[in-house]
Amino acid sequence: METQTTKEKVNTYQVAQGRVKRAVEQLDLPDDVYEWLKSPDRLVECGIPVEMDNGKIRVFTGYRSQHNNALGPYKGGIRFHPDVDADETKALSIWMTFKCAVARVPFGGGKGAVKVNPRELSMKELERLSRKYMQAMAPILGPEKDIPAPDVNTNAQVMAWMTDEYCKIKQHNDFGVITGKPLDMGGCVGRETATAKGTFYAIREAARVKNIALNEAQAAVQGYGNVGYYAALFLNQAECKIIAVNDSTGGAYNPNGMDPTALKEYKNETGSVKGFPGSDNITTEELYAMDCDILVPAALENQITADIARTVKAKIIVEGANGPTTPVGDMVLNDNGVLVVPDILANSGGVIVSYFEWVQNNYNYYWPEAQIEDRLQQKMMDAFHYIYDYHCDCSDKTTMREAAFMYALKRLADTMKTRGWWG
Ligand code: NAD
Repeated sequence: METQTTKEKVNTYQVAQGRVKRAVEQLDLPDDVYEWLKSPDRLVECGIPVEMDNGKIRVFTGYRSQHNNALGPYKGGIRFHPDVDADETKALSIWMTFKCAVARVPFGGGKGAVKVNPRELSMKELERLSRKYMQAMAPILGPEKDIPAPDVNTNAQVMAWMTDEYCKIKQHNDFGVITGKPLDMGGCVGRETATAKGTFYAIREAARVKNIALNEAQAAVQGYGNVGYYAALFLNQAECKIIAVNDSTGGAYNPNGMDPTALKEYKNETGSVKGFPGSDNITTEELYAMDCDILVPAALENQITADIARTVKAKIIVEGANGPTTPVGDMVLNDNGVLVVPDILANSGGVIVSYFEWVQNNYNYYWPEAQIEDRLQQKMMDAFHYIYDYHCDCSDKTTMREAAFMYALKRLADTMKTRGWWG
């Protein structure tokens, strides 16, 4: 997707490619490695004909991008959004390859999408669309091939319909084909909150290294869906004040802090966080310029442009969303000493617990919640510290994002070489 901002024209796919290229150069690897990784192994684009409630057929465009499977089967969510396109899907699949490598889960990278505004569909239409998407993609998916999960505007119910359709096609139950399923269909306890839990652990560790006490800190969160809401909730449980949040319809600000659960209930009732009792309306620009310690982007890509970055006062940005910072925005934040914990580390809690779900599906043996929680926490803390330490060991100018890409690329390139793919 190409986004026009005041000074930057950002193509998300080119951004993802640029990050890979930079890491290849920083590690002094041959061009062959970049040639392999600059584009997906496969992009499937298809028309998905769906019978609408009025009896008419509407054809939606669906995508699945399979970027790289050197480290394991392709893995990545399915997004339903009116603005998605092939480039955005390819970019997100590149991010997944690197995210899985950073988290040290044995998966490659993939991503799926349907160009649709799900809010315009009835539940029955949404179900037919989800099943038809699976019918179109089933030949390239599977627990050992490519494993989808929820992403923006998709949830456990959508995953249930898709999994059920896959099982019908295969004529047997094969729940490991998708993660993020409801519990009774082989879902994993804690998957719904996993991404935000992981983001919270990343925030907690970043606060530690920056000597910020969470119980005295103030945070602002962009996006109030799965990641944004739970990130706000976990921060608040650690006594951090949530002073600003927004969603696609507007924002709410209260310097005394807001209760995340009450905000969520208000959003469920009214469809927006805007107008939350006791708060003032704010714009996205005002949210990012907020006088606070921690910013959590948890909406979409390319939100923190150079112009926005120049206004940031927070000391830490922890990227719950995928690709929320543009390359120029990144440079400005780095120059201004803001610690940016990159998406491929900060939101990897989701894919980590997806990995736990997949392992349990394959074994047909399910772990208690405390075990999942402990293992997620351990994996996130490990990942934060080996990337943070790597970033500190590199030159002054190396950002945590660059360190994360280099760390992942090193693993990927070594494995690809061992497999005889280059060199
Ligand atoms: P979601 O659909 O549950 O929520 C998205 C939220 O962002 C909604 O509140 C929406 O209103 C808001 N939003 C959309 N456009 C906005 C804008 N311009 N300004 C402010 N708010 C806006 O989606 P989610 O699952 O929470 O995903 C959010 C981000 O996190 C995405 O980038 C996604 O790829 C990433 N992510 C999600 C997961 C996961 O497990 N859900 C895992 C990894 C990464």
